[in-house]
Amino acid sequence: MPNAPHIKTPLPGPNAAAIIARDRARVSPSYTRDYPFVMARGEGAVVEDVDGNLFLDSAAGIAVTGTGHSHPDIVKAITEQAQKYLHMSGTDFYYEPQVKLAEEMAAIVPIAKGTGDVKSFFGNSGTEAVEAAVKLARYATKRFNIIAFLGSFHGRTLGSLAVSSSRAIQRRGFGPMMPGVFHAPYATCYRCPVGLKPETCQAECLGFVEEQIMIHLVSPDEVAAVVVEPIQGEGGYVVPAPQFHQRLRALTEKHGILLIADEVQSGMGRTARMFACEHFGIDADIVTVAKGIASGLPLGVTSARSELMTWPPGAHASTFGGNPVSAAAAIATIKVLKDGVMRNAEVVGDYLMGRLRALMDKHPLIGDVRGRGLMIGVELVRDRQTKERATTERDRIVQGMFQKGVLLLGAGRNAVRFAPPMVLTKDQADTVVKIFDEVVGGLS
Ligand code: PLP
Repeated sequence: MPNAPHIKTPLPGPNAAAIIARDRARVSPSYTRDYPFVMARGEGAVVEDVDGNLFLDSAAGIAVTGTGHSHPDIVKAITEQAQKYLHMSGTDFYYEPQVKLAEEMAAIVPIAKGTGDVKSFFGNSGTEAVEAAVKLARYATKRFNIIAFLGSFHGRTLGSLAVSSSRAIQRRGFGPMMPGVFHAPYATCYRCPVGLKPETCQAECLGFVEEQIMIHLVSPDEVAAVVVEPIQGEGGYVVPAPQFHQRLRALTEKHGILLIADEVQSGMGRTARMFACEHFGIDADIVTVAKGIASGLPLGVTSARSELMTWPPGAHASTFGGNPVSAAAAIATIKVLKDGVMRNAEVVGDYLMGRLRALMDKHPLIGDVRGRGLMIGVELVRDRQTKERATTERDRIVQGMFQKGVLLLGAGRNAVRFAPPMVLTKDQADTVVKIFDEVVGGLS
């Protein structure tokens, strides 16, 4: 595809506007579209809308198309599988792509210290992966309480919604939530209330779990699991100090509580490691994966230590879960990630992060640049001392980037996230930074 961005119509163009009008009439209004991008086709990190405008994609369909839009190896794997059979249902029958994917997951997930003693359950989405993880934790421990973190997002079905605490609108009107869920502050180091530096931090924020939740609210021997995003995604691409995860791991082990690492957004090479847990040197008991795993086809995976996954036939299943076409796409995705895309996420991710950090000298609005690989968050503040959240400015930046041909998504209350397809080149990263510089500079 030609170089992007190239915007040749007012946005939205006429074809996009017509489709959006039809959408408004017949599609649920619950979706959160920030700007009127209507996809026509994509290749690598470039997407074209239905009016022929070309954009650089820095959102990857919410951190999904990690291998790039329509990577030829993934398309080939999908096509070959589709020509053989589309569906059989792993609930009642067997097929090899699902078995092979389970074997591949056992070899890569941060569980059981790399021994491969892992089993996987297959669903269709992130929320289903979390539902399965919570059900499995309850089943395996015979306890039912769950501890999760403020600002987290784990999905929108009723179980995972109860564990999520990203935005009140996601819960509003749907209560009461599933009982037995307790939320603690996440390690938001940029806003550390005790002002610790990462080097001196002892994960004091976990005191809330130990000295508040476990003393006043729930006995630890009745807690089934702690659910945590290794890097908080929807909450603002928040990267904790490693001590947070290490102390949390020790705490869960002490009380026989299972640690569920929700790698739905941070997994599958996004952080330049197959899973973000690797950055913190921790192993989980259960790991949830979706988004990037099948490069855009629906798939959710819940992997656990084999000894935990002992639920009997009928306990949990899904008609479509782990369908053969998604499984084939996932197997091809893992290969493409290992063959160079994950390395590119490291090289281009470091480069992009460095260039975004350099913009801090120029734009006081940029309060923090953080991330790993190509999971980069930029937090915007009105004042670097008070860290007042620049919420409206953030929204204007997202709009401004779109108008200039870059698809960017917000995260949290006042951050933007750079989560492009991980095939992004340095030249494309330069273009993204140049436009971001212009848009941020144009705000004042
Ligand atoms: N978990 C995390 C960490 C996520 O970021 C998301 C989605 O953004 C989910 C779970 C839910 O995934 P899905 O939208 O596929 O249900």
